[in-house]
Amino acid sequence: MRYCQTCRLQLDKRGFKRHTLSAVHRKGKLIRAMLERNCITHAEIARRIGLTRERVRQLALQMGFADGRSRHAICRMERRKKEMPEFFVQAQKRGFAVELLGPRNAYINGKLCIQRKACWHDVGRSEYKYTYLSIRQPAGRFDICAWKLPDGRFLILPKELTGFRQTTFNPEESEHLGTASSSHHYRQHIERWSLLGRPRRSK
Ligand SMILES: [Zn+2]
Repeated sequence: MRYCQTCRLQLDKRGFKRHTLSAVHRKGKLIRAMLERNCITHAEIARRIGLTRERVRQLALQMGFADGRSRHAICRMERRKKEMPEFFVQAQKRGFAVELLGPRNAYINGKLCIQRKACWHDVGRSEYKYTYLSIRQPAGRFDICAWKLPDGRFLILPKELTGFRQTTFNPEESEHLGTASSSHHYRQHIERWSLLGRPRRSK
């Protein structure tokens, strides 16, 4: 038995000789690189290299890669993870078990969570003009809504505190309370992860 380092394939002596002259060997590195990326299908690899799909399937097996169906499942999982809203990524990093439901909602500790964005908004006129962050009431069902602030932090509010259509708040301490003083308590809810309960594992 001989072993091709490039393709990481084990072959018998005669097969090895034939292999070193083959297109598979010439493009061995490329084939491996493509097989390592789960979102490239066997059919796509076959098309790019000029082999049949069945040949690629056999090669993948010989090279020790997962079968096509598993690759597809892994690809889907990786894609979902990449698209996961920042709030859920952060929650996961904090040790919470995140169960994705869709692109913008997930169960965290049995609570239905969603993510929205907070935008800067001018309030008042002339000298009484202040810039606050504006948040809107989310439509639909949820237990907890997290608004991503422009600085990357999250304002985390339970449903009970979201009885507004749109409201503004000041994310920083300031001397003037301005017109939106009543919503200043939202500041205490910035990064209030305890609302989600206890993480499964603590870091
Ligand atoms: Zn080879």
